[in-house]
Amino acid sequence: MSSMEELLAENAALKEQKQQLERDLAHVLKHDQLTGLLNRASFIHQVDNLLQKLSPTESPSAMIEIGISGLPRISGSLGRHASDYMIASLAARINQGQYAEFICGRLDYSNFALFIPDVGDPVIALTTAKKMLEALKAPIDWIDRKISLDTSAGVALSTETDNDALTLVQNAGLALRNRAERMGPNYGFFNPSLAQAAKRRTEVVSAIEDAAAHGYFKLMHQPFFNTKSGDLAGFESLLRLDHPKFGSISPIEFIPVAEERGLIAKVGTWALNEACMTAASWPSHLIVSVNISPEQFYTGSLLTDVHTALEISSLPAYRLELEITESTMLKDSDVVLSQLNSLREMGCAIVLDDFGTGYSSLSYLWKYPFSKLKIDRSFIQALESTKTIKGILRSIADLARNLGLKITAEGVETSEHADIVRSLGCDYVQGYLCGKPTDTKDLAAIIMKNFSDQIRPRPVEAPRQIKPAARN
Ligand code: C2E
Ligand code: CA
Ligand code: CA
Repeated sequence: MSSMEELLAENAALKEQKQQLERDLAHVLKHDQLTGLLNRASFIHQVDNLLQKLSPTESPSAMIEIGISGLPRISGSLGRHASDYMIASLAARINQGQYAEFICGRLDYSNFALFIPDVGDPVIALTTAKKMLEALKAPIDWIDRKISLDTSAGVALSTETDNDALTLVQNAGLALRNRAERMGPNYGFFNPSLAQAAKRRTEVVSAIEDAAAHGYFKLMHQPFFNTKSGDLAGFESLLRLDHPKFGSISPIEFIPVAEERGLIAKVGTWALNEACMTAASWPSHLIVSVNISPEQFYTGSLLTDVHTALEISSLPAYRLELEITESTMLKDSDVVLSQLNSLREMGCAIVLDDFGTGYSSLSYLWKYPFSKLKIDRSFIQALESTKTIKGILRSIADLARNLGLKITAEGVETSEHADIVRSLGCDYVQGYLCGKPTDTKDLAAIIMKNFSDQIRPRPVEAPRQIKPAARN
């Protein structure tokens, strides 16, 4: 071969090598390295290209998103290579046999997606999702053990308005998360109400963030009274969020969202400080009760937060009560128990809120350092309709007394309720009958009114009635 021919041959080989490298690079850029499936960007791109050629009204296409649970647990106990192996094994099952005809992708660490063009019948889409979950259920061999992972699926169909890959992935993802959070079948369809709920959740998250940044949170205070003397005993602090754009949002709605998004620590600390500062201006026999979310026990700063709130406000610890619900004790009871013991040692009282609505495990009552329990308002409200409730309330009251716990009956709305809870020996009452949650600036009037009632001469032998609150 002449040197010219050699040069040309070398050039051709180099060109071939370059083309191969380019192909390899393109493959690397389009695919997930661990599973070999399309990565999120190219999955979306390919599905979009296909969707443009299809008509959702003639025959809808289906997006199935599959989520794997429990990977962090495996990674934590067996190492990252074990969880990677699990992901790769499941991906191989998703991408084999009949499924290989569909477009398959890995959306993120623990989620896969499968696109079935022109599926036509929604039942076929759902059946495919079910079959796939069945296939994924089979245990995976790992050294000397077999590991099964939980998987869930969400299915979304293309429609005239939802006809792009990103929307379908989002819709299938919403259906998937909705299934993963619920009991029942681990697969389900997207429906527009899920999108509405997700939109509302996003609004609530921005409302919480805005409230924390611009001071839209405030506390209302609801009085509670000593049942025997009728005297004001203190106030429970209740959070309010008034957003200039989204309006007033109930704590029943925003507290769970704040917990889920890791925002509760900030909100809870604000509430603690504000409640202690407010209570410091009240007469020294009045207690303030603050609700503490389960998540606050996992921030690592609860003890410091309480200590700081007491120090800044100069409120003595015995005037602060912390209300927790049974759900607080479900997760990691040791973490919770040690913090509750420290709070008790600090001098704060611990109150079990909403008693009777959760598991009502009696062991909580003697294992944890409670001073008081609050009987949930659903019991009081059921007094009229359910005959057995009175007996149940009596048993709860006897039990609490035997354990040396004080009792508050909450949700007392009528004087009949008040008479019953007094006859059962409840120590405190709280509810619309004696006072609604009230603006901080109006508390002085309640305190003064109670003070003037106290100094008025009264017969010693007859305990005074709980005074109904002014109706507005
Ligand atoms: P909760 O701790 O059980 O608070 C009592 C709720 O019952 C309050 O609702 C109060 O307004 C309402 N209520 C009081 N008396 C009556 C009555 O006679 N009848 C009826 N029907 N309702 C009555 P609110 O203020 O909407 O608070 C709801 C829940 O939000 C609270 O339930 C508590 O779980 C949570 N929450 C409120 N503030 C905070 C807070 O600062 N931190 C945390 N973590 N949760 C809070
Ligand atoms: Ca409460
Ligand atoms: Ca309650």
